[in-house]
Amino acid sequence: MYRSFNPATGETIAEFPFAEDAAVEAAMANGHRAAARWRAADLAERRTALTRLADCLERDADTHARLIALEMGKPIASARAEVIKCATNCRWYADHGEALLAPEAVPHPGGEAEVRHEPLGVVFAVMPWNFPYWQVVRFLAPALMAGNAVILKHASSTPQCAAALEAAGIEAGLPEHVFQNLYLDRAQLERVIADPRIAAVTLTGSEGAGMSVGAASGRALKPCVLELGGSDPLIVMPSADLGRAVAAAVTGRYQNSGQSCVCAKRILVHRDIYPAFRQAFLAAVAKLRTGDPFDSATDLGPLSSPQARDELAAQVARAIDQGASLLAGGSAMAGPGAYYEPTVLEGLPEGAEARVEEMFGPVALLFEVADIDEAIRVANETPFGLGSSVWTEDGGERRRFADDLACGMTFFNANTVSDPALPFGGIKRSGFGRELGRWGMMAFVNVRLVFSA
Ligand code: NAP
Repeated sequence: MYRSFNPATGETIAEFPFAEDAAVEAAMANGHRAAARWRAADLAERRTALTRLADCLERDADTHARLIALEMGKPIASARAEVIKCATNCRWYADHGEALLAPEAVPHPGGEAEVRHEPLGVVFAVMPWNFPYWQVVRFLAPALMAGNAVILKHASSTPQCAAALEAAGIEAGLPEHVFQNLYLDRAQLERVIADPRIAAVTLTGSEGAGMSVGAASGRALKPCVLELGGSDPLIVMPSADLGRAVAAAVTGRYQNSGQSCVCAKRILVHRDIYPAFRQAFLAAVAKLRTGDPFDSATDLGPLSSPQARDELAAQVARAIDQGASLLAGGSAMAGPGAYYEPTVLEGLPEGAEARVEEMFGPVALLFEVADIDEAIRVANETPFGLGSSVWTEDGGERRRFADDLACGMTFFNANTVSDPALPFGGIKRSGFGRELGRWGMMAFVNVRLVFSA
């Protein structure tokens, strides 16, 4: 059962049954036929559909934002910004898709070599609730522009967002069955991955989901992209602009109520500036407003569910048990909503589980580091390797961090963000493959060689 549940009030809004097996079968058959037609559609038609999808999302941004706020508790201004970012991504691929997909001549002494970029067929996508529009559109726009069809299995907690996205695609003029949404249980999900009419798989989600979707894709010998969890470091060195670094750390950690894969989950500060940073950071955290996602003054909404809040509370309790000091917050908030206070911990000893696990909620971990060597060692000690953000004005330090941080993305003097033009993804247990930019599009194309001797 898919359940639309309001985490701010604890009310169930609507429930949706899993698709009948016959409907799943029909979706795959229809998707497969639609993919064959869509791959033959010229690029202008695909470009027009993506541009119209952008128009529809922008026009209805408020409606979509309300659904996001309702189903996963994102503050309304951020929810609206998420929808607008989706429109930007559609336009980016509409504008750049043709150039990215253009055939390439490869000089070769034996003859004429042409590399084409052809669609794979139907891409099956398993997506999470935390950015219920962005995570989908991030892969959807390049996949469609490249001529693939898409079947979406969204998180079971955001069924209305999933349905609204599918409806926007239809309204934008995507041909029938080119983009379909299905409410699937786990067994159906595995059968879809195994079905020969599915050409490729993409998942954004937790490590557990990554292992199971990755294994199912492996059994079926299908390419898959896995965008998984992270415990990104944000590192502040003495030469940094302290005010900007503190503001970035607060935004970086508490954006989306702490539920982003690239949140600055661990904040590593050089000991020379640690006391000043700590004081300013705590003062800024104390000003964060937690409350109703529909109130435009709210900074942090509830967590996505009471279970998510309870898991986070257990992680914090364990961290304190294992030696961390609680500097702010540390409690679930009273009332029916899944609220958790903005929390700050410091002094996690070596070996404490919280040093290496992902905390998916508003909990900042502060680390005092002696020098650049310790900063890099602590930054790299988790099994994840998604993003990193480094605050320094020193060119030598910058080169060292760029060379030695083990992750997919490093941003200097900026928070880690996703951007249509730039590759996004990680290494180690943060997954593999890339989304966005040229790289996101190449994930779902057949790099096809045509050679004439
Ligand atoms: P999740 O529980 O893994 O769910 C993600 C999707 O996978 C949902 O559609 C879910 O379906 C499905 N799923 C869950 N377990 C599965 C399994 N064992 N087999 C097959 N499918 C499974 O993750 P979440 O709680 O929604 O999202 C939070 C996680 O996603 C965090 O770890 C976060 O860091 C990560 N994330 C990563 C990125 C990135 O780009 N790297 C971006 C955002 C989030 P149901 O809803 O039906 O369970």
